[in-house]
Order: sequence, then C-alpha cells, then structure tokens
Amino acid sequence: MVTHLLRRMILKKKEKFLFKRYEEGNIDFDSMNNEIGIYIHIPFCKSICPYCPYNKVLYEKNKAQRYKEALIKEIHLYKEKLQDKKITSIYIGGGTPTLLIKELEDILNVVKDKYDFCGDIGIEIYPTAVNEELLSKLKEMKINLISLGVQTFDDEKLKFLGRAYTENEIHKAITLINSFHFQCVDIDIMTNIPGQTCKDIQRDLEKVYDYEIDQLSIYPLIVFPMTHLSRRIKQKGLTRFNEWEEKKILQMIDTISKDYGYERTSIWTYGKNTENRYTSVTRESFVGFGGGASSHFGNYFYMNTFNIDAYISALEEERLPINIVNTMTDRERMIFWLFWRCYDGEIHQKRFYELFGKDMKKEFQLLFILLKLFSLGKEKNGKVILTDLGRFIYHYVEKQYSIHYLNYLWQRSMEEAWIEEIQI
Ligand code: SF4
Repeated sequence: MVTHLLRRMILKKKEKFLFKRYEEGNIDFDSMNNEIGIYIHIPFCKSICPYCPYNKVLYEKNKAQRYKEALIKEIHLYKEKLQDKKITSIYIGGGTPTLLIKELEDILNVVKDKYDFCGDIGIEIYPTAVNEELLSKLKEMKINLISLGVQTFDDEKLKFLGRAYTENEIHKAITLINSFHFQCVDIDIMTNIPGQTCKDIQRDLEKVYDYEIDQLSIYPLIVFPMTHLSRRIKQKGLTRFNEWEEKKILQMIDTISKDYGYERTSIWTYGKNTENRYTSVTRESFVGFGGGASSHFGNYFYMNTFNIDAYISALEEERLPINIVNTMTDRERMIFWLFWRCYDGEIHQKRFYELFGKDMKKEFQLLFILLKLFSLGKEKNGKVILTDLGRFIYHYVEKQYSIHYLNYLWQRSMEEAWIEEIQI
C-alpha cells in the first residue's frame, strides 16, 4: 500500500517496474552517453561468505578460462556501440577479481586497444590475495584505485562472516599495500554484525584510521533474505542493532572520523581528499561486462544473465548475454539519478538541468519541500546537501530497497538463466 502510494506520488505512475527479456532493437544503443564508465565482473571466489548477495560461483580453473574468452568476446561485440565514446573509468569487481589477475591483464589490454580510454582503474581485493607479486602486477597494469575488503579486525567476527583471514593477515596486507603508494586505497568495514558492540566498531575505526588510508567505506551489514546468514540469524535468534541504535552508531562514526581528519564524502565513505575517490557505484552511465553485470545509460537499465554457463554459451554463439531490460520513463530516470546523488550526499541543481533540461526543484516540488520541512536537506551554493538526519533516512531507504527490491531481482536472476519478465 505504502509502496503503491509512493509510486503514484513520486513516479506519477501506478504500474510496477517492468523488466522484459532483451530482444535486438529494444535498447537504443545510440542513446549512450559520449562519456561512459566500464564495469567488469569476475564472479569467482575461493569460498562463499554466508551473507553475500552478489553473483558469484566457486572458482574452477577451466570455467575461469572459458569465462575470460567470453568476456573478451563481449567487449568485442560492443565495438560499434563504444568505438566513438570516451571511456572515463574502469572498475573491476566480483567475486574475487584478483583470482583472474593474468586474465585481467589481457581483458584490460583489449579495452585499451579497442576503445578511447583515459581515466582511473579500480579493483576489489581480498586480503589474503595481497602479496608483492600481485601489487607489482596491478601497478604494471596501471590500476590506481584499490578497495580492500577487510570488513572487521575482530577474528571471531571474521570467522562468523566466513572470511578466511585474521587481523594479523589484514595488518600485513595493508602495510604492504601502503608501501606501493596507489593513488587511492579504500578499506571496507562492516557494522551491525550480529553480536557486535559499539566498542567493537570504535576499535575497528581506530585501527583502520591508524593506517592513514585514503578512504574508508563503512556500511551496515544488510541481511538479504535469500542468504544463508538470514536463515542462520532466524534459527539462532541472533540480535543486531535496531534503527535508532544504528543512528547513534552513524553519529559515532562521524565523530571519530572527524577526529582523525576524515570528512564524509558520500553516505558510506570518508576521505581526506574528495577528488581522490574509489567510487564504483556513483557513475552517471556505465556499461557492464561479465555474468550478472548491469549497465545504465539514457533511459535503459539492463542486466546480463547471472548464470555463468549461460553467459559463456551466449558468447560462444556470438550473442550479447543481456537478459532483462528496464526501459525507464524520463521521470524514473531522473529519480534514479537523484537516488545516486543522495548517496553522494549532495544534489547539484545545475547538473540536473544539464542532463534533463528541467529545474529539479520544480519537477520534484513535493520531494524538496519534504526535505526542507523535515530538515533532511539544506541548500547551499546551488546544491541540496543532505543533513545527518537525511543521511540516516537514506540509509534506511537503501536498506529497504535492498531487502525488498534487489533481493527479489537478484534471487530470480540467480534461479533463472533467461527471464521472460519481472514486475516489481
Ligand atoms: S563477499 Fe566477496 S569474497 Fe565473499 S562470497 Fe561474496 S563476492 Fe566472494
């Protein structure tokens, strides 16, 4: 009922979001922006973490080889669509991308050879993968942004999360990474792990900032209903912080970060230099390569098949592995953009006008009145900046969006290789 009302008020439509099976001609590739980012998905992991909602499979050498060939074919299939575009960034995520580090070198070379690329390259790293050889290779490949998935320094909690390393190994990994002087080193830390206390979070923060990293990404564990962890929490009756305790924790994170000289750079990130960011999710338009990768440009949001065998087979037949497409209305596209700018913590009025030719405050009058009325956002120099309360509400909205929307979309995509239609 609430969703229905919100849909009518904000989206001005009563129909649900519709994802339809991709057919040639139902995406207008000519509407692709002239400047665009690339995302490369490597879905292989050595072990599976029980909380993980992402598209991943256990590593198998032969499958990984066939996957690499398929990925290169997919990049080639975009030749006509991307050849006159500027590729402004490449992010490599997973899975555990460094399991295919040699293959990634070939994949990146194809992108660089075929397309006009100039920008940052970022990669996610699992702590046990870090060694001199890997870091030298990343430097050689001109990868300049690193995101290390630490999650916590607490050995017991690491075990609970199914992470196969200890605080000692994290220490060695960060120390070595720092000695290589990448342009940006981001560390992921998780809060609201069952059994975690405020003191535990404080301890994690103090430890991570002592390494003088460039960026901290800190986010509450979102328990997707489809995961093993969700079942375990229910079976064992494990407790976690409620919304109001989470609000206090956000405040504590802000205070400790400021003490260490770090400013909030988005809903989940803190940094010393706002120009130097690892930020894979905030790009305005991007094309995703790989099993389960999504793409967004113009009025289109689409996802490749999540099924790795189906992905490889499609490319062996020289077919694009696109599974389902959501064609947004202009209003939905504006809201999608606003959602990610809220993640950034600020919305630029001028940029909205450049993109959509409209005054955002007139177009979304009610939304901006509510932001002001409930002190969720304040205006400054042509920007609407989210307040602490606004950021807390965004956290809440994002959690609900993940649990009710993404969980369904991803679970269906993991269960069915090719989907006819999804309405959410
Ligand atoms: S959280 Fe990362 S390492 Fe763990 S299973 Fe998911 S993708 Fe793999």
